[in-house]
Amino acid sequence: MPAWTNWVGNQTCEPAELATPASEDEVSALVASASAVRVAGAGHSFTPVVATDGLLLDLSGLGGIRSIDAERRRVVVGPATTIGAFGEPLWAVGLALANQGDIVAQQIAGAVSTATHGSGLQLGCFSSSVRRVRLVTAAGDVVEVGEDDPELLHAAQVSVGMLGVMTELELEVATAYRLRERIEHWSWDEAWEGFDEVAREHRHYSFFWMPSEDSAALYGLASPGESLTDRCHVKIYDEVDPSTPDSDEPHRRVGPAHVIYPMVYEPNFHELEYFVPFERGREALAAMRELMLRSLPASVFPMEVRTVGRDDAFLSHSYQRETVVISVSGTPGTDYWPYLRDVDRLLGEFDARVHWGKLHFLTRDQLYERYPRADDFVEARRRLDPDGVFLNAHLAPLFA
Ligand SMILES: Cc1cc2nc3c(=O)[nH]c(=O)nc-3n(C[C@H](O)[C@H](O)[C@H](O)COP(=O)(O)OP(=O)(O)OC[C@H]3O[C@@H](n4cnc5c(N)ncnc54)[C@H](O)[C@@H]3O)c2cc1C
Repeated sequence: MPAWTNWVGNQTCEPAELATPASEDEVSALVASASAVRVAGAGHSFTPVVATDGLLLDLSGLGGIRSIDAERRRVVVGPATTIGAFGEPLWAVGLALANQGDIVAQQIAGAVSTATHGSGLQLGCFSSSVRRVRLVTAAGDVVEVGEDDPELLHAAQVSVGMLGVMTELELEVATAYRLRERIEHWSWDEAWEGFDEVAREHRHYSFFWMPSEDSAALYGLASPGESLTDRCHVKIYDEVDPSTPDSDEPHRRVGPAHVIYPMVYEPNFHELEYFVPFERGREALAAMRELMLRSLPASVFPMEVRTVGRDDAFLSHSYQRETVVISVSGTPGTDYWPYLRDVDRLLGEFDARVHWGKLHFLTRDQLYERYPRADDFVEARRRLDPDGVFLNAHLAPLFA
């Protein structure tokens, strides 16, 4: 039995030691005496970003909100705090996470480390909200990285566990807001033709496009008696004013943002996610639709389409550019690799960046071509971890 398995079950490892430190001091002592270290978050990445045969740290003892400064809209948390654990405490003091993705199970350090995002052109990924982070470096030293050192902060914001172990994060959050949901089923043309305008007009615009009759049910989107083949399950969220009452009406809910955002998934998919420049988004989407229609049944999972606002993190998918996010999945138990390779080749034509937590084929050359600050990240990594203690077999070919 492997000692560690990720949530979806496609990555396992057998670390020499599995430790559950209960303090930053314990993390320091453990890291200082190890030659290979990785940290496990909630295990919701599809890539081998946690795998190690050395020391694996489980920081679940270091969760929880440590302080909230409502006036400055700042929250200080332990690394294992789940996204879901922010909702009620922030809401109680008039604050909220600025945006959220599809689920709330991730630990904040895991979400930040891979640039986890929601949808919205005005809204950056979680990493972009990090204002300070405490890191235990390979030598076991504690380094505090904050706004007074923007270069190192931008390296640390998306670092896939390669700069050190995050033991505390300070995030900038938003004033509490409520959302009105609008879920509708549109034709491809309706969702695609006006994509740029609808994405700009609304706080959140995203959709799932279904390539076949079987697709909608795979993400629980099927409506009884309605065919969604070549149609889109569209989600639009906008803020509402205080006079609008909360509502539980299906597909038209109104409520606090943290209540409206989360979806429910089964671990029945292996996902790839690439990010293309917003200006080329529609062109990339049209090409993806054609590819998926001719790749059936390998391409049966819906294509999820979202947007993300620009940020400054060196390894972010949205470094200095607004992006359209394209996610597709392979079916576990099938050989989905040829299909995902075709997707990689196609989106490579659009200068695609990748989600570090989702399947990808990025090479070192592509890293340097598509991430303008890759060399600065690698330089920071080498400075903080000259012996590559935090690298593993998946990360070393890209970042050694
Ligand atoms: C059902 C599902 C839905 C998802 N929805 C979205 C979505 O809407 N948007 C999106 O962008 N992504 C989404 N993802 C991807 C997911 O958000 C990322 O893979 C995220 O990294 C998972 O967080 P985690 O806590 O599980 O981290 P893990 O997968 O456990 O780890 C991720 C990385 O973070 C590092 N890490 C974790 N903790 C620390 C620490 N304390 N210090 C240093 N490094 C650390 C790990 O070593 C690893 O490299 C989804 C994944 C699933 C399975």
